[in-house]
Amino acid sequence: MIADRLSHYRSVLPPEVTLVAVSKFQPIEALHEAYAAGQRDFGENRVQEMCDKQGLMPSDVRWHQIGHLQRNKVKYIAPFVHLIHSVDSEALLDEINRQAEKVGRVIPCLLQVHIAREDSKFGLSPAELLELCTDRQLQHYPHVHIQGLMGMASFTDNQQVVRGEFDQLKRLFDQLQQFALQRADMRILSMGMSDDFPLALACGSNMVRIGSRIFGRRG
Ligand SMILES: *Cc1c(COP(=O)(O)O)cnc(C)c1O
Repeated sequence: MIADRLSHYRSVLPPEVTLVAVSKFQPIEALHEAYAAGQRDFGENRVQEMCDKQGLMPSDVRWHQIGHLQRNKVKYIAPFVHLIHSVDSEALLDEINRQAEKVGRVIPCLLQVHIAREDSKFGLSPAELLELCTDRQLQHYPHVHIQGLMGMASFTDNQQVVRGEFDQLKRLFDQLQQFALQRADMRILSMGMSDDFPLALACGSNMVRIGSRIFGRRG
């Protein structure tokens, strides 16, 4: 089942789009099944769960931290995390930089931008994003490699609202690309989940995070 769904998504996604299989709350057997079907990028939103699963999965899995990350938990994932999608403050950047230095790594990160109407979603405001994205600010974090942006659209059936939010994130992404920052590469645009990824792709996403449509409902 999981293998069928994965091969379906691989066939509908353009080749340059990375599919992150969001495996949060799924049992390890489900991850093994996806791995056997060739999946290597897995997304988790809780540090403890990611660490537990990391210990049980082959070492070539690429672990994506997609959920809100507390500063005091960064140290647990710093040795192995492939990409942190949810950087939403300078304080967090600072801690990732510290922990990355300790383990001798440069950790790839995305800046999460608040694009949804809901208050509940985390992320930098567009103004905060632009303020942070200057070489002068980013030079304080040599062990962090900013590689792009992540955003979540409002939870609504209104396609126009969702499209407007994705468009906004794409515009910020393009704008930052033009700044040609030394300390940040704008190459990954992580937007789109099970229900809104076709729209996200139409708006320029090149990384989608799909959970329930691959694994079924979370237990
Ligand atoms: C859970 C989650 C997803 C996947 O959601 P689905 O609707 O199950 O595809 C994607 N991104 C983030 C940040 C999530 O927390």
